[in-house]
Amino acid sequence: MSKKDIVSYNYEELQCELEKMGEKPFRSRQIYAWLHEKLVDSFDEMTNLSKALREKLAQEYEIKKVEVVAHQVSKVDPTEKFLFELFDGNCIESVLMKYNYGNSVCISSQVGCRMGCRFCASTIDGLERNLEVSEMLRQIYKIQRISGERVSNVVIMGTGEPLDNYDNFVKFIHMLSDTHGLHISQRNITASTCGIVPNMRRLADEGLQITLALSLHGSSQEKRKKLMPVANKYDLKEVLSACDYYFEKTGRRVTFEYSLVAGVNDREEDKEELTALLGKRNCHLNLIPVNPIKERDFKKPDSKKAAEFQNKLEKNGINVTIRRERGSDIDGACGQLRRRYAAAKEEKPDEIICND
Ligand code: SAH
Repeated sequence: MSKKDIVSYNYEELQCELEKMGEKPFRSRQIYAWLHEKLVDSFDEMTNLSKALREKLAQEYEIKKVEVVAHQVSKVDPTEKFLFELFDGNCIESVLMKYNYGNSVCISSQVGCRMGCRFCASTIDGLERNLEVSEMLRQIYKIQRISGERVSNVVIMGTGEPLDNYDNFVKFIHMLSDTHGLHISQRNITASTCGIVPNMRRLADEGLQITLALSLHGSSQEKRKKLMPVANKYDLKEVLSACDYYFEKTGRRVTFEYSLVAGVNDREEDKEELTALLGKRNCHLNLIPVNPIKERDFKKPDSKKAAEFQNKLEKNGINVTIRRERGSDIDGACGQLRRRYAAAKEEKPDEIICND
């Protein structure tokens, strides 16, 4: 019989489990703290439990494997990329970005992705499976433990579509911000979606305080359809109305992400159309000059052109930033994370440091 995934139990669920085993409530508090505050990898590290209890736990439960198999450190900025191996041999990537306001970790929510956005490397081999709650949490736990520094911000912008793994994603947010765990403020958590409308609305009703980022990328329904297959399913009008609903229900301003692709969505008409779409909305627009991936020949506009794009929209009253590129030398930037360990290894063989 397969063992139960103990890190995916929230505080109340773990209490019930331990009660069933005939253990006192303070034991579940201790065990939860080992797993979610001290971030241990094994029951053996739980030194304030008796050996007998540790053995009993190890018989019934497992701390599902999320093991570092490669760790790349960027030479151009304080960014590090981690490749993790999971229990079934699949691999996922996460990125640590150090800023002066704190450490931000970008995590994956699925193994692969089925959304098919044209410019994104994460989707090229399709979706393999959803990540468990524990597998999302432990990307952060491992990075905090390895770096020895507190993680203050989390973005769910790695591989995968969080709203395509809805239940696990929502439980993950609750556990990440729980006072019994790392207690990361929901206001410091951002989840990015390609625009799965029904789940955006459900999320608005969850009573969470996280920031929602919408991958817009096209200034009209037609243009969006060319870059993002999901636009065939949900019309831009419905997507924007779900964004408005999110703001209405949570009071949290939505961030719109727009990957600038030279000659595709960076023209004069795009500036006008974007102004018409976003001008009256209380929102924030984040421009991401598209990061190259080898399977496609999308190019980013030069920095002067990107700055012009930003200036024009700012003049039109929109709150705009250009995302600073991070970890480009280690393929740690948006849309460059991939499923295949082999691919990562082939590309940068000498920068991979194993098992640290
Ligand atoms: N599935 C989610 C989160 C994943 S990607 C989503 O679609 O939002 C995080 C952001 O990076 C998204 O806005 C995504 O569209 C963008 N992105 C993907 N590939 C990119 C690339 N090659 N260059 C720049 N941004 C990219």
